[in-house]
Amino acid sequence: MAIERTLSIIKPDATKRNLTGQINEKFEAAGLRIIAQRRLQLTSVQAELFYAVHQDRAFFRDLCDFMISGPVVVQVLEGENAVTRNREIMGATNPANADDGTIRAMYAESIQANSVHGSDSIENAAVEISFFFSQIDIVG
Ligand code: ADP
Ligand code: MG
Repeated sequence: MAIERTLSIIKPDATKRNLTGQINEKFEAAGLRIIAQRRLQLTSVQAELFYAVHQDRAFFRDLCDFMISGPVVVQVLEGENAVTRNREIMGATNPANADDGTIRAMYAESIQANSVHGSDSIENAAVEISFFFSQIDIVG
């Protein structure tokens, strides 16, 4: 197994409900280490750039509006198979389909306000990490 890094975002629905610590506890309990973390307010342009891959989807505009509706916490998680492991801990995009005990099953409000983002591949993780963090911010 390989030690990987992945980008995680605690989304506005979760920061609003003061769930940052509870969500971080899930990552740490699963063996993922938070090696960089910052709370910030995304701008519309930043949200559009981050989710550019979804720009042709019907939900794109609503998704960007949601992502700027409050603060987010962006973080780099490190651990064995971190990309896949984090996706397992997060659960399915639609909380109705998320396995019991996953973050989305426990905390998500809807398919849009689903509490967390996680990179979906090692390649995308590298791109997404560099979107938010410089090398000097990441202390492994
Ligand atoms: P994931 O976050 O699980 O990787 P996607 O990359 O497919 O999911 O979608 C990005 C985000 O867009 C989702 O986390 C969710 O916030 C939102 N989203 C996805 N599908 C829908 C949908 N059908 N309706 C509304 N929002 C959606
Ligand atoms: Mg995705």
